[in-house]
Amino acid sequence: MSQDRAPTDVPTLQRWLTGPRFRSLPARDAEQPPPKLSFEFFPPRTEALEQQLWACIQRLAPMMPRFVSVTYGAGGTTQARTHATVARIVTDTDLTPAAHLTCVGATRQEVDDVARQYWAAGVRHIVALRGDPPPGTTYAPHPGGYAFAADLIAGLRKIADFEISAAAYPETHPTARSAEDDLDNLKRKLDAGATRAITQYFFDTDTYLRFLDRCLAAGITAPIVPGIMPVSNYAQAARFSAMCGASVPAWMGHIFEGTDDDPETRRMIGMVVAAEQVRLLQANGVDEFHFYTLNRPDLTYAIAHLLGVRPVGGQPAA
Ligand SMILES: Cc1cc2nc3c(=O)[nH]c(=O)nc-3n(C[C@H](O)[C@H](O)[C@H](O)COP(=O)(O)OP(=O)(O)OC[C@H]3O[C@@H](n4cnc5c(N)ncnc54)[C@H](O)[C@@H]3O)c2cc1C
Repeated sequence: MSQDRAPTDVPTLQRWLTGPRFRSLPARDAEQPPPKLSFEFFPPRTEALEQQLWACIQRLAPMMPRFVSVTYGAGGTTQARTHATVARIVTDTDLTPAAHLTCVGATRQEVDDVARQYWAAGVRHIVALRGDPPPGTTYAPHPGGYAFAADLIAGLRKIADFEISAAAYPETHPTARSAEDDLDNLKRKLDAGATRAITQYFFDTDTYLRFLDRCLAAGITAPIVPGIMPVSNYAQAARFSAMCGASVPAWMGHIFEGTDDDPETRRMIGMVVAAEQVRLLQANGVDEFHFYTLNRPDLTYAIAHLLGVRPVGGQPAA
């Protein structure tokens, strides 16, 4: 994993005497305030998934996230389900919802109408995205639609005083002309009115930290919140990562090797991998995290706990 890898071709005692020493991560100072969290869910497709989502929300709610966000399906396919889920979060919980909204497959008028409906329903936070086209197709702006996320953000600003989050890509968006172009695009989104960026997930922590350096050098001062994906199904995560341009380091493949038929071991390994990542980020001064929960609460709950967050109102029922 590290360039300081201990040599393996020398006897143990000699390696111990001459090899590198790895210091542990600093323990979190008890005085330090816990980090700010947000959780992402996807809108359920079936009754069973609906129950799974609400069990997940109930389990994570006592961790007092700053907001919880609900995704918008590729090609804008989940508009009604996203709206219904966000509306229920408003009516049935004390959580602050954020609705994802995309430019795909709709005119500006249609997208604006959805945004107005959110405002009327009490939703004050939008995660504004260009969106992905339906699988197997290439993105093309809808005639009369918003072409890119920066255009959508500028449009939302004219509708109401939404809090707006945008997407950022530590490894560069897969179809960007260049890394510089992509960073310029992030600046455009923030200049258009987004107040924070949430990153695509990443597994190499250094990639994110170097990205922060590049953002700062480009004059970006808005929070760039790391998107954390706790992985318990490695094969699925590897497939999905290939589609969205997040690289999967070779060490992850080695760590999960041979666990395809062993979900319990995979979960424990996934917990350790994500825990190490967030602790390293925390040790580097990161104090905000966005979790891609995939509507499963356990890893996110445990990792949040590890980061120093405690449930308000006591331990919820597992
Ligand atoms: C936190 C987060 C949440 C997400 N949630 C969803 C979701 O709910 N639903 C969904 O469908 N997808 C979602 N996505 C995925 C996202 O929609 C895709 O990654 C999409 O391909 C890009 O969206 P964007 O908002 O970053 O687009 P943009 O910022 O518009 O950028 C898209 C690409 O176009 C380039 N670009 C931008 N402006 C221009 C221009 N003027 N000329 C030429 N090129 C330009 C950029 O460099 C980039 O390569 C999410 C991603 C993240 C990180």
